[in-house]
Amino acid sequence: MTELERKQDRAPVPSEWTYASAPEARDLVTLQDRYGHYVGGEWLEARETYTTISPATEEPLAEVGQATPEEVQAAVDAAREAYANGWSDVSPSERAKYLFRIARILQERSREFAVLESLNGGKPIKESRDVDLPLSAAHFFYYAGWADKLEYAFPNRKPRPIGVAGQIIPWNFPLLMLAWKIAPALAAGNTVVLKPAETTPLSALLFCDVLRQAELPPGVVNIVTGDGRTGAEIVKSDGVDKVAFTGSTDVGKAIQRELAGTGKKLTLELGGKAANIIFDDAALDQAVEGIINGIYFNQGHVCCAGSRLLVQESIYEPVVEKLKRRLTTLRVGDPLDKNTGVGAINSKQQLDKIQELVASGAEEGAEIYQPPCRLPEQGYWFAPTVFTNVAQSYRIAQEEIFGPVLSILTFRTPDEAVEKANNTPYGLSAGVWTEKGSRILWMAERLRAGVVWANTYNRFDPSSPFGGYKESGFGREGGRHGLEPYLDLT
Ligand code: ADP
Repeated sequence: MTELERKQDRAPVPSEWTYASAPEARDLVTLQDRYGHYVGGEWLEARETYTTISPATEEPLAEVGQATPEEVQAAVDAAREAYANGWSDVSPSERAKYLFRIARILQERSREFAVLESLNGGKPIKESRDVDLPLSAAHFFYYAGWADKLEYAFPNRKPRPIGVAGQIIPWNFPLLMLAWKIAPALAAGNTVVLKPAETTPLSALLFCDVLRQAELPPGVVNIVTGDGRTGAEIVKSDGVDKVAFTGSTDVGKAIQRELAGTGKKLTLELGGKAANIIFDDAALDQAVEGIINGIYFNQGHVCCAGSRLLVQESIYEPVVEKLKRRLTTLRVGDPLDKNTGVGAINSKQQLDKIQELVASGAEEGAEIYQPPCRLPEQGYWFAPTVFTNVAQSYRIAQEEIFGPVLSILTFRTPDEAVEKANNTPYGLSAGVWTEKGSRILWMAERLRAGVVWANTYNRFDPSSPFGGYKESGFGREGGRHGLEPYLDLT
């Protein structure tokens, strides 16, 4: 270590940096008091409704529909009709034009969507602005490009659409998950019934206006809102040919049981408990940024979050020290403030789950660290948290917390790192930090994870397939692989 590095290492860290508030303009979004379901290109008045709120303030935002079985049926019928009466015959290059239009409109309206996403979901505006929106548009651009090249994607096969896709998405990336689902389905020539999660329906409802602007034929995309009961109706509807689900492992298993023997196609993207593995030759400051991004991005509401940190024993102390120091500079608070790094927990239910698991960690014997930070009094909040002294058997090292909570474990050898990383029922993602390319490849071959990031974390690209092993689900989204579940290739 040079003299300069030693000095920098000891430089005092301000416990709290002061920032002037930098709020994004909330009036970029105009909300209706009440929303119906988007069926056959029109708004269907909802028979039953509930109130959707801002998790940061608990302020009511709008009344939205809780779709009944009849309303779900109407959406499925509209999708069937649109499929049979034209969409499956629209030429591939015409289909691509609609997708390009949707992508461009999303870009044009990205500020409005970003504000809405943060308002209804609680995520920091800098993430919705810089991640959710650009990636959502990029997905539509990417799959627009495939629409008229399907025969090149699957040479010597005759790719044909499947029919009606029933799509159920979670609340952590509401618009991005919608894009992941709708873009490949339409590119392949299917029609869609989509249900957003009950706590975050508003960006999907605003997206209906994008569909109208893009002049997508009526019934090609139908959006119904509601909770799990609505989702279950979509899954069991006879008019649905393919189900795509992203959410919890328990619900994914229930859906798989429901569909067994029906012949319907299914893809499941479920939970995760990823290992982020730091070797002693890694660039430590970059690795610390990767750890922060891995677990505190989107409040840790990320199925591929790096929630188990595996640190090589020889560098355990400097890593933990740097990490704690970095934690003190995270800004927790108003999601619409451009300086905010960690926003609100998405719902009371999720906050209760995080609190229960964190309490179990302390009870089982792990040591907890939270940086000093003032949490707002109203709304749902949880301070960024690090656990040290964690045993592999603890619940915090086994179960998905889906919150800003990191468990730190150590290892000595690469073999031990692989064994510990794979010691989980999940297999969605992993991170490896090392200077050696050969070690990255050696690790990537052995890690049972659908995605392995090297010297980075939580990087997404529409051209790159994403999906899990084991209890993290099956099927891939993104890339050419993401088209397959929406095509009949026999
Ligand atoms: P989480 O526990 O993270 O909220 P869920 O799996 O409960 O995840 O929710 C993911 C999505 O699945 C949401 O849109 C939710 O409404 C929906 N959902 C919940 N239960 C069911 C079910 N039994 N069948 C179909 N969809 C469901």
